[in-house]
Amino acid sequence: MNELLNNCNLCPKNCGINRNRGELGFCKAGNKLKIAKYYLHEWEEGPITGNNGSGTIFFSNCNLKCIFCQNYYISTEGNGREVTEEEFANMCIELQESGATNINLVTPTHYVPLIIDGLKLAKKKGLTIPIVYNTSSYENVSTIKLLEGLIDIYLPDLKYYSDEYAKKYSKVKDYFKYASLAIEEMYRQVGKCTFDKKGNLKKGVIVRHLLLPGMENDSKKILKYLYDTYKDNIYISIMNQYTPLKDFKYKELNKKIESRVYDEVIDYAWNIGIRNAYTQEEGTQSESFIPDFKKES
Ligand code: SF4
Repeated sequence: MNELLNNCNLCPKNCGINRNRGELGFCKAGNKLKIAKYYLHEWEEGPITGNNGSGTIFFSNCNLKCIFCQNYYISTEGNGREVTEEEFANMCIELQESGATNINLVTPTHYVPLIIDGLKLAKKKGLTIPIVYNTSSYENVSTIKLLEGLIDIYLPDLKYYSDEYAKKYSKVKDYFKYASLAIEEMYRQVGKCTFDKKGNLKKGVIVRHLLLPGMENDSKKILKYLYDTYKDNIYISIMNQYTPLKDFKYKELNKKIESRVYDEVIDYAWNIGIRNAYTQEEGTQSESFIPDFKKES
């Protein structure tokens, strides 16, 4: 799998560089897995968290780098530790032995070939809990196809409907096109959501949408698109936890989501027929919900 890094076109940035010869593309990821933190995370959607927490592995670097990123210390600054596929497999087993509901791979896109090798190794060592692929969705379908049969749960974002916002906040002009095609492929692979007896998700797709200040009309277009396309076969997680972590040049990003606006979007979802949704309580807009990546796991 590592040979895919010889001419890296894993994501729509299509850098075409040789990561095995030390060349770096937009994401700045090399040819080794780099991990910032792994632990039992208790603040995912209920059926992902389960009783003991989701066995979350945060990868360093990112192929999108949104300006408002809540994890910029690892995504943009690239902090973390390089590990072998064997060490990654051992982390998965350690999380499973700690009671993790699943293995939750956060921002994995730029490491897919290495993750595939690592997961195969982990399965040989006895990994049986579901594997979650947790992504910005700025993905090439060809890369998602490589994961067929290995991923049980897809947890993709759908950030923007309008290319105008994608260009402004993530500096890509074609986010919706790539993200919507990637989600179609994810759904093709795993189908309708199914749960175990404890109510934990076993298989399926939960699409996350984080409201951003001033973008409620774009949020509504996303909800309409998802419901028209997938009806109740997927779940939609409508999130209000946006937290400005610095003073942005785009002034609208310097505030949190008003509860009036969040309620309006939730009402809209209900009115168009969405029933399979997760929402967040007021009070989740706190920096304490952002993992401390400077602390060791
Ligand atoms: S994964 Fe990284 S190097 Fe490869 S195409 Fe995407 S941004 Fe470029």
